[in-house]
Order: sequence, then structure tokens, then C-alpha cells
Amino acid sequence: METPTAINIHSLSKSYGSIHAVNDVSLTVQQGELFGLIGPDGAGKTTLMRILCGLLTPDSGKGAIFQFDIHTQVNAIHEIIGYMPQRFSLYPDLTVAENLRFFADLFQVEKKEREQRFQRLMTFSRLGPFQSRRAQDLSGGMKQKLALSCTLIHTPQLIILDEPTTGVDPVSRHEFWTILKELRAEGVTLLVSTPYMDEAMLCDRVAFMHRGRIMAIDQPAHFARSFSHELLEIDCDDRYSVFSRLEALPSVKMTQLFGDKIHIAVTSESLFRREIKKHEITLHSIRRIEPGIEDVFIELMQSKEHHEKSGRPGY
Ligand code: ATP
Repeated sequence: METPTAINIHSLSKSYGSIHAVNDVSLTVQQGELFGLIGPDGAGKTTLMRILCGLLTPDSGKGAIFQFDIHTQVNAIHEIIGYMPQRFSLYPDLTVAENLRFFADLFQVEKKEREQRFQRLMTFSRLGPFQSRRAQDLSGGMKQKLALSCTLIHTPQLIILDEPTTGVDPVSRHEFWTILKELRAEGVTLLVSTPYMDEAMLCDRVAFMHRGRIMAIDQPAHFARSFSHELLEIDCDDRYSVFSRLEALPSVKMTQLFGDKIHIAVTSESLFRREIKKHEITLHSIRRIEPGIEDVFIELMQSKEHHEKSGRPGY
């Protein structure tokens, strides 16, 4: 039997004045997929997610969430979707349990089902021991787990999470993703945006968004193979001035500061070595490395910007 499609959108666009927040986006996500959405600030991720939730109307394009049309069946979509926005509004004065009950009321969860769901979410989120603690006294990671529990109270089939772990410590991030993977194992579909590349690697597939457009969709492990240059890690003194000198070399196609090193993509390492000799650029070391998903996205972004400047399409 064919897996049902959870998200199926075609050529969606949404502008705010002259800003094309979402620009001709098409995307298909299968039921049970853990799908990642990544891209820089302002790429259009939140706008796209809000359209999918039926909270924003697109200017053009069509789409469906399962069998429901995003233009005409918004109420039905609200019933099967759970949306966790970047700033989820918990009630700070209410306890963990009271917040959960509030959302159960909001979603009109039937009284006879409540207790069972409540217990399940407490176990699931590992928040059981803290159910009498007020939301304002929870740690950042616990707050996010409570927000997720509130999102799950009406057992949605599709969960859309907008940067749910931003600012959360690494241990809690790991725990949060364990919960997401448990949900996927139950057949729930998840669309999650994240600024963290280690989280992108945990997704079944990832879409990379930039300036309102989806520039690439693939399995995270496949992205690295699409890197079209040789990637070098540079160690040097005075990184900032070396950075701008390297950027100007003809063989260098991408430059990025990575911690205390510089990553550069070059057309050929030997050509690059000749160029730095000619320009008398002193480096401590040059090391050939395998590209990570972040390198691939930076290369995609910089190549698009380069082509835009030269008036040619970049992808
Ligand atoms: P971030 O992760 O920073 O939230 P994002 O990828 O989610 O970024 P959006 O929030 O969707 O991006 O914003 C896309 C573009 O649309 C940005 O240029 C943003 O400034 C603009 N934008 C978003 N909402 C509005 C609005 N209500 N009015 C005007 N412009 C908006």
C-alpha cells in the first residue's frame, strides 16, 4: 500500500510588500517522515510553516495537508495538526499539569480521554516529577518539552515545530530529539526547522531555504556528495585580514569562518597553493577535509548570491 502524503504543496508564494517571504515553493512530505527545514534568518521558514498550519493565506499556489485543502478546509487542518511556534505561549503562573489541562480544554479533548493522555505525555516528556512546578520555574529545555506536550494533547497526525530547541542546552536538545524520533516511530509526521546542523543530520530529508525559495531537498547524508569543489581547512594568524585576502583569489569559490579556522572551497588545491605563494599569504596549515552539510549550504547560498550579482540564475 502506498504511503499517504502528509504535505503536498505546489508553487506557493507569499509576499509582504516587496519582500518575497515564500517564493514559488513546492514540496511533498510523506506520512511518517521527519522532515527538516533549514536556512538563514529571514529565509521564509516561519512564513511557510504558518501557511501550512492555515494561519496565513498564501498569495498564490495550492496545497493540501493530507486530504484537506489549505485554502478551503482550514478548520479540518487545525484538528489534525500541532503547531509549536518559536515563542510558544505557556502560562508562567500555571503549573506543568495546569498548562496541559488548559490546552486540553482549548482543543476540547474529551473528559474520558484526558487522564490517559495526560499520563502518557508526562511519561513521554519525562516531566512527571515536575508536574506541580510552575512553568516560569522550569529550565529552558523543560519549557520546550512542556510546549511540545501541549502541542500533542489532541494527538495530531502532523506536527510542525519552528526552531523548537533554539537556545536549549545540548543535553536537553538530545532528549527533545529522542522524543521527536519516538513520535516518528509511531507514524506521526514531523516538519521541523532548526539552525543546528547536527539536528538536520537526524532528519529523513532536509530542505534548504534561502530568500523565500527552496534551493535543495535531499537526505542529509547525500548533501555532502553534491559539494562541487575541494574543501580546505585553513589555520592562520589574523584570520579576518587573511579571510578577505583569500576571498579575492580566483581559485577560491567559497569562504567561511569556522570556529578558529577558515573553510574555503577551491577549484583546485594546487592552483590555490600557487596563488597564495604569488600573493605572499602566510598560513600555518592547509588541510583537505570532507564537506559537512553546513559547507554545502554555504556554497549553495554563496553561489546564488554570486550569480544574482552577475545577473545569471544560481541554481
Ligand atoms: P527566522 O528564523 O529569523 O524567523 P524565517 O526563515 O522563519 O526566519 P520568516 O520569519 O518567514 O523567515 O521571514 C521571511 C521574510 O519575511 C523576512 O524578510 C521577514 O522580515 C519578512 N516578514 C515576515 N513576517 C512579516 C510581516 N508580518 N510583515 C512584513 N514582513 C515580514
